[in-house]
Amino acid sequence: MRITAVDCHVLVQPAFDTTAASSAQDDIVVEIHTDEGITGIGETDVNPWIARACIEAPGTHNMGLGLREMLIGADPLDVEGLWQRLYVGSAMNGRRGAVVNAIGALDMALHDLRGKALGKPCHALLGTACRESITPYASLQPEVDNFEDYRDSMIDWARRAVAAGFRAVKAEVTLEGPYAHNGLREPWERSTEVLAGVRGAVGPDVAVLVDVQYAFPDADTALRVIADWRDFDLYFVETPLWPDDLEGYAKVSARSPIPIAAGEWLTTRFELLDLMDRGGVQVVQPDIGRVGGLTEALRVCELAGERGLRIVPHLWKTGISIAAAAHLAAVTPNCDYIEFLPSDLSASGLRKDLTSDELEMVDGVIPLPQRPGLGIELDRDALERYAAEAAALAG
Ligand SMILES: [Mg+2]
Repeated sequence: MRITAVDCHVLVQPAFDTTAASSAQDDIVVEIHTDEGITGIGETDVNPWIARACIEAPGTHNMGLGLREMLIGADPLDVEGLWQRLYVGSAMNGRRGAVVNAIGALDMALHDLRGKALGKPCHALLGTACRESITPYASLQPEVDNFEDYRDSMIDWARRAVAAGFRAVKAEVTLEGPYAHNGLREPWERSTEVLAGVRGAVGPDVAVLVDVQYAFPDADTALRVIADWRDFDLYFVETPLWPDDLEGYAKVSARSPIPIAAGEWLTTRFELLDLMDRGGVQVVQPDIGRVGGLTEALRVCELAGERGLRIVPHLWKTGISIAAAAHLAAVTPNCDYIEFLPSDLSASGLRKDLTSDELEMVDGVIPLPQRPGLGIELDRDALERYAAEAAALAG
């Protein structure tokens, strides 16, 4: 079997909001086609026009080849070999950043393709399943623009998530810092107020996670505020500090009463190794597309496992990435939860519409996927609708 074509679909949610801290408003979906009529599907979480350029740009020398041109004519079943070829062949332009994010979408599609070709779910080809189901947590980020509504909707959404069966919820409490959501600016005490409300609403048996999206200016501020959250029994605090502040992470991770999580933006196992070994975090959060695909995410999970660290993959995209995370979690013993942006609690139509046959939660867990490959299909009407939106925007 040979790869014959690689299609990139740039998709945009109509009426997106550039003040929202939400990358679920756009997407790039890749389809890798073969001469046997089998097609693999993947996506990644980065600006879709940039990712498309990374994939489609031709190269003129052997240290900076085009990703698509390296794939055309190759055997798609050699997924790990192709990862190495793409990484090394694009290294002068890539090694990190957007090129690796783009490789992630291609690698995800290759895993899907290989599973379909061999008639096996991706997890059966990634390793040995170590669980019978996967536990998702609901990410909650109310789309409102004043504090009282924000607090009340967060508490209401947390209740609704638990009523829907979720055993874990994450509050995106971004009231400060560079990515304060929808222009909200509030003192730290108000974040504490939101978390107290969420814990009270969900009761003691539901796991509560919190994401502050890089809000704290330094380690000392982070430690002072986090100390006030000690009694809320939080599973982790996500991205308290800027990702380059590894010394700060080391300090906060060593002294915080709550485990520290990070890693969503990082590419390749090499950046995540720095976060683990220098930053000292307790929970590692590779985003499967961004980190370089399922191939690289699996390596990160293994490295974290060797260090006794937990894995909770980051995920803010569509049913494609949810499926990828479920397959990864199926073979990762140290993965307690996967992130799950509930379709009916998401403001993004793109998130809701793009895939059919999406994995579903039953009694708070996702049963192990059984269909070949990732096990999802694209809704072609939705794909065309959101592609037309992107085409209109780019002019
Ligand atoms: Mg986050």
